[in-house]
Amino acid sequence: MKKIHVTVWNEFRHEKTKEDVKALYPDGLHAMIAEFLGETGDMEVTLAALDDPDQGLPEEVLENTDVLIWWGHMAHSEVDDALVERIQRRVYAGKMGFIALHSGHHSKPFRAIVGTNGNLSWGRNQKEILWNMMPSHPIAAGIPDHFTLDEEELYSEPFYIPQPDALVFGAWFEDGHIFRAGACFIRGAGKVFYFQPGHETCRSFYNPYVRRIITNAVYWANPTEIGYPIPNGCPHIKNKVTDEFNCPAQ
Ligand code: ZN
Repeated sequence: MKKIHVTVWNEFRHEKTKEDVKALYPDGLHAMIAEFLGETGDMEVTLAALDDPDQGLPEEVLENTDVLIWWGHMAHSEVDDALVERIQRRVYAGKMGFIALHSGHHSKPFRAIVGTNGNLSWGRNQKEILWNMMPSHPIAAGIPDHFTLDEEELYSEPFYIPQPDALVFGAWFEDGHIFRAGACFIRGAGKVFYFQPGHETCRSFYNPYVRRIITNAVYWANPTEIGYPIPNGCPHIKNKVTDEFNCPAQ
């Protein structure tokens, strides 16, 4: 089997400036995600960070990425709009899956791809119970009916996302709030997954179920082989929604 090329993009600022975050994720939370994805033996994982050249995603990296994982928080606005457009086009063309983690709900690529402002309510860190609402879904493989995270940042409904194509996980928080914590979207020919756990001062990326869900999501979002040739610049179709498609007149 061809290895899945995964790029884990992290803003990678908190880990450099806040001692408690550095203690949890000394090499950055993206390095920890890369480590457990690498353990599958099925994935070739690349690390990317905002302060890297070309914001971590030069053409040759993005063009070689099957699934892009995104964690950002304080520097969403610094992400270059041209880069966001390249990411969006690649997802819509079915060449790359996209996974937004935690505060990635407000990231430019997630908002652009899914079509939302990504707004939600949030509050103090507290106990969270994640409920497996769709056990037959590939992203729920191996996940029990529920599991507990002792500490996560409260995210609450209303969450301003379009109706998900599949709602795989729901969350209950100690203060009584609920949240659509794991949601799938099909956009163009591409697949998108949003997953809520992953606050930078919490240990969620150490949790085996969180790791399994992110791993499952990579397999799910990996582009399907599209069984038709895709010429560019077809003159016969006016509304070109992806980069590429087959034209019957050619
Ligand atoms: Zn957070």
